[in-house]
Amino acid sequence: MSKSKIVILGAGYGGLRTLRKLQQSNIDAEIVLVNKNDYHHETTWLHEAAAGTIEPEKLMYSIDKVVNKSKTTFIQDTVEKINKDEKTVTLTTKGEIAYDYLLIALGSEAETFGISGLKEYAHTITSVDSVKKIRAHIEAQFAKWKSEQRDELLTIIVGGAGFTGIEFLGELTNRIPELVKTYDVPREKVRIVCLEAAPRVLPQFDEKLVSYGVGVLEDRGVEFKVGKPVKEANADGVKYAESENDVREIKAATIIWAAGVRGNSVIEASGFEAGRGRVKVNNNLTVPNNEEILIVGDCSLIINPNNERPYPPTAQIALQQADIAAKNLIKLVNGQSDLEDFVYHEKGTVCSIGDNDAIGVVMGKPLKGYPASVMKKVIDDRALLMLGGAGVLASKGKFQFYK
Ligand code: FAD
Ligand code: NAD
Repeated sequence: MSKSKIVILGAGYGGLRTLRKLQQSNIDAEIVLVNKNDYHHETTWLHEAAAGTIEPEKLMYSIDKVVNKSKTTFIQDTVEKINKDEKTVTLTTKGEIAYDYLLIALGSEAETFGISGLKEYAHTITSVDSVKKIRAHIEAQFAKWKSEQRDELLTIIVGGAGFTGIEFLGELTNRIPELVKTYDVPREKVRIVCLEAAPRVLPQFDEKLVSYGVGVLEDRGVEFKVGKPVKEANADGVKYAESENDVREIKAATIIWAAGVRGNSVIEASGFEAGRGRVKVNNNLTVPNNEEILIVGDCSLIINPNNERPYPPTAQIALQQADIAAKNLIKLVNGQSDLEDFVYHEKGTVCSIGDNDAIGVVMGKPLKGYPASVMKKVIDDRALLMLGGAGVLASKGKFQFYK
């Protein structure tokens, strides 16, 4: 009898962690990993490369470092569609590949809520290519200022003061002094505005922590406009609602859209029942009525039993889900039906504000400033170890715990 075939889609936190766990087991199955690039990238570090405080190579490593060729075949290709009835996946170049069991870990895309002009005029922090573009774009605007002297060249709008928006602002404000020096631009001409729709920034944290974080960024020159949603982006900048009947404009050459995510568009293209590209999976991570398919990470949706709201899409959850998904794939291949349920163990959340400042809650305790930033680096290093192993941690880890 031929071996069962497990296909893993996506080599991010959920996919690569599941692969590692399967490879460490003695599972008797054919394993195939599909990813659009031949490298893994740390999605949680993308804002740093976008601002230019790290080089993109720092957050990338070859998938070959994780793939054990005696157990796994790696296919570099783009997933177009999953054909549930035929149990196949359509790839852009290689056509259709069949599976017995499928793990979907394709991550997320920026949510634009249908706001006009965002797709055309705003940048998003979603991939290595997108963050390379952001860095190059900001540098190009600074370079142009000397000859054109248009203030909007030095105006940067950040839409959304969630985790991604705040972390990007932290890195960007750390980079500004270098940009100002390199391009001989007056610091006072640089304007950074963060527009946030909700009445407060980072409602996940208590007000004291948030006011510390916002204060740090304001001291570095960020203007926060809270309770003021972006309504439109265009070639000149953005329009936002100052109040219900008062729409205003800010001229800006750079718009960074960091106002939330939705599951990968492959989910909707494949006809899964989903909300914002996320499939409400069973507690054991299988898809209702398609129990041979498991979904982890940003394409999955699980309700937090404590507040009846969906867990947020995070790397922390994707990694924990992957451990259960690997166990359940092994059980499925072995013909066992006693699949394990995913139970989330919240370890805490830290939001960086540049390289050496942060706010967060770890093991239920609020943290801010330098200790919080050390904790963030420890969390980032732990993820490297969990996915890439000791070699990747040694070459890519964040070990500069200076003040
Ligand atoms: P990903 O890790 O994004 O991996 C998806 C993989 O699928 C990628 O390799 C991608 O190239 C590949 N792929 C996508 N589409 C296709 C396709 N069509 N065909 C083939 N391959 C494809 N969470 C935290 O817990 N802590 C943090 O500190 C944190 N910081 C963040 C900072 C930023 C700037 C951002 C944007 C997010 C952050 N998150 C953080 C959220 C976290 O990154 C995601 O929840 C996590 O990456 C989800 O894991 P995943 O495996 O679902 O997707
Ligand atoms: P988010 O949903 O956490 O925050 C998006 C913010 O954009 C919200 O505050 C929302 O009110 C605002 N917004 C929505 N529409 C708007 C509009 N029209 N104008 C202005 N503001 C608008 O999304 P995110 O920050 O992109 O993060 C995505 C996921 O990644 C989340 O689950 C987050 O927890 C996770 N993440 C975690 C970390 C970390 O743990 N350090 C860092 C980055 C991202």
